[in-house]
Amino acid sequence: MSNSADVLVVGAGIVGAACADALSARGLQVLVIEQDTVGSGATAAGMGHLVVMDDNPAELALTAYSLSLWRDFVAEQPARHEYSRCGTIWVASDDEELAAARAKAATMSDYGLACAMLDSSLLYEMEPQLRPGLAGGLLVHDDGLVYPPKSARILMDRAHSRGARLIVSNVRQIGDGCVVLGDGTRLSADAVVLAAGSRSTALVPELPVQPKKGHVMITDRYPGFVRHQLVELGYIKSAHAASGDSVAFNLQPRPTGQVLIGSSRQFDTTDLTAEPQMMARMLSHACSFTPGLADLNILRCWTGLRAATPDGLPLIGPHSARRGLWLATGHEGLGITTSLATAELLAAQIAGEAAPIAHEAYLPGRFTTKERARA
Ligand SMILES: Cc1cc2nc3c(=O)[nH]c(=O)nc-3n(C[C@H](O)[C@H](O)[C@H](O)COP(=O)(O)OP(=O)(O)OC[C@H]3O[C@@H](n4cnc5c(N)ncnc54)[C@H](O)[C@@H]3O)c2cc1C
Repeated sequence: MSNSADVLVVGAGIVGAACADALSARGLQVLVIEQDTVGSGATAAGMGHLVVMDDNPAELALTAYSLSLWRDFVAEQPARHEYSRCGTIWVASDDEELAAARAKAATMSDYGLACAMLDSSLLYEMEPQLRPGLAGGLLVHDDGLVYPPKSARILMDRAHSRGARLIVSNVRQIGDGCVVLGDGTRLSADAVVLAAGSRSTALVPELPVQPKKGHVMITDRYPGFVRHQLVELGYIKSAHAASGDSVAFNLQPRPTGQVLIGSSRQFDTTDLTAEPQMMARMLSHACSFTPGLADLNILRCWTGLRAATPDGLPLIGPHSARRGLWLATGHEGLGITTSLATAELLAAQIAGEAAPIAHEAYLPGRFTTKERARA
């Protein structure tokens, strides 16, 4: 096998696999290096919720664009992705959260996204397991879900069919236009794409990325227990917390009839052990929204590490100081959703094409620019 390519991609999680797909679609020779299996890392841990988020205009643009790409992608073979267009219901506990839901609905409608406010009677008609006394909610129709490791595999297979190659090995070092593998082999290319998720800082320590641990649990099969992805509006506070441990109510109906229970956020740890205390907190919080959950059997719990940046947006584009190094990392809790848009933005930059959406907000150089401005 040749030790060179047009582009080396480090990591075959959903982001690396999507980059391999988008780059090979442009006729580039791609070589992917993955130390484990395709779709491992955070990709194997993620809930696979494809969700439009609107906390700021850049996040809205990236998630909405990516969801449009996902819909075309899964349409080719929905069953292989375990795709479901389940929609998301943002659950409002009280009038204050209902007002937040209305603001969200206005933003999304202005952006052309299909959504509808639910009063409490509609909410209970759609989701009878929810506890009484909730104020209502917002249904976002076109959100969905996939099984992320399978989607990553499909992306890699498509890249492979265009000539992309995969090496199973650990990357020890990234140099100027090259990477060095664990056994000392040197691979070279015009461009190196770092898509190593939360492990990106092991190879490029100056990146502003820190791990955020998350727990997820899955139940036995209870078809119809919930019908939409249910997320409390308070989730947004938990997702944006910059320190401390938090849990948020987030339930997903898998196409198998199982219920996926998320999620938690913890800083300052890379220990992947599932922690009974954190699981207990998540379950008690989830049962406060859907009391019937207490009667379901939980089969398994696992954890993963999100790669978080200080502003919650990913790093997509050239490293500001290292020639030939491109970044596709820092996707935090949205990397399944935003993987396809990331790949299109990055491939367009590498190929010298016009960006499909404004890409400045995601450029890695924004941190150096901000640091310079502060200095
Ligand atoms: C609990 C939890 C729930 C989540 N739920 C959702 C959700 O519902 N929706 C959503 O959109 N996102 C969700 N996410 C976020 C999403 O899972 C991640 O953002 C996404 O998987 C990141 O993909 P990635 O390819 O960047 O990283 P990863 O999937 O971590 O992939 C990185 C790959 O790089 C490889 N690698 C690392 N270092 C090296 C090296 N030195 N040499 C070779 N290979 C290397 C790793 O083995 C790994 O396979 C969730 C995350 C967690 C933890």
